[in-house]
Order: sequence, then structure tokens, then C-alpha cells
Amino acid sequence: MKTAAIRQFLEDVHWGELDYLVVDLPPGTGDEALTIAQFAPNIAGAVIGTTPQDVAILDITKVVKFVQTIGLPVIGIIENMSGMVCPHCGKDIDLFGRGGGERAAKEMDVPFLGAIPLDPAIRKAADEGRPFLIRTPGMPADNPTWVQVDSVMENLVRVIEEGDAGGRREEMPLHPAWKKQPG
Ligand SMILES: [Zn+2]
Repeated sequence: MKTAAIRQFLEDVHWGELDYLVVDLPPGTGDEALTIAQFAPNIAGAVIGTTPQDVAILDITKVVKFVQTIGLPVIGIIENMSGMVCPHCGKDIDLFGRGGGERAAKEMDVPFLGAIPLDPAIRKAADEGRPFLIRTPGMPADNPTWVQVDSVMENLVRVIEEGDAGGRREEMPLHPAWKKQPG
């Protein structure tokens, strides 16, 4: 049922001209990820999000291995909820610790794309059905969350365009979709 729904989503929706199609998957190594890997064309790779704590790092280690096993490149790891900017005084609150995502990326030799703080503005935007990515008028350009989000996006596009995605072990066969990629 889930597999059929994902296939329908990939094959029957008129997407129009896309730069990228980003598919947000539930955590872990379930059927959803396998189905996408099997049926989506031209997969650039997987981006793995994590929170900074050690328990989360254990999970992403499994996910990175899973992605490598099915022969897809790991575009990189993003550390989410990495600190929090206090909405009252603007000071940094170290909520879940920091740096676990980067450490894990280094250990597994895959790119680290950056860290995004927990920000009540993201929650507010989601509640209002307004993508946080669309800039709110009046928000200062040096808003710490924006600075981090921009940096992650730039790293992400750079890794994809330069073909620097790591984690695909040499002996692994290339995913058929990856082979079709130019360069
Ligand atoms: Zn404060």
C-alpha cells in the first residue's frame, strides 16, 4: 500500500520542470527509503538529518550504512536542533549539545553540510502553513537561523554539483539512476 502510494507519487504526478525533488522520509531505514531508491530516477543521493545527541548519532550511523548498501551516494549530514537562539535576548542556548553531526560525518567520511539551530520562528511558520524558507519581511539578514540555513543550502548544492557526495564504497555497484547522471 505504502509502496504503491509512493510509486504513484513519483510516476503519476505532473511535476513540471524541477531543479530538484526533495523527498522527506520518516526516520530510519524503512520501506519508504527502499521504494524511493528503487523507483525514483536520477537520484542525486541522500541527505541525512540528525539531532546532536549521541543516541541520534547511533541511528544515523545505521542510516549512512543503509544508504551505502543500496548503492546511493550520501550527499551529507545536517545537524538539526543545534543549539537555540533565545527569542528574548538573542543569546545562544545549548539545548541538546552540539557537534555530534559533524563528528559522525567525519567518522564515516561523508560531507557535513552544516547545523541549523532550533528556532521558534520555524515552528511558527509551519503552524501558519508558510514555508520558513520564504523570507519574512522585516527579518534582519543576519538572523542566525537564516545564516545557517543559507550555508547548509549552499553546501548542499555545491556537493551535488561537484559530485563530491561521499560514502559510496568503491566496491558498491552504482545505483542505475546515478549512472545516468552526466559527469
Ligand atoms: Zn534569553
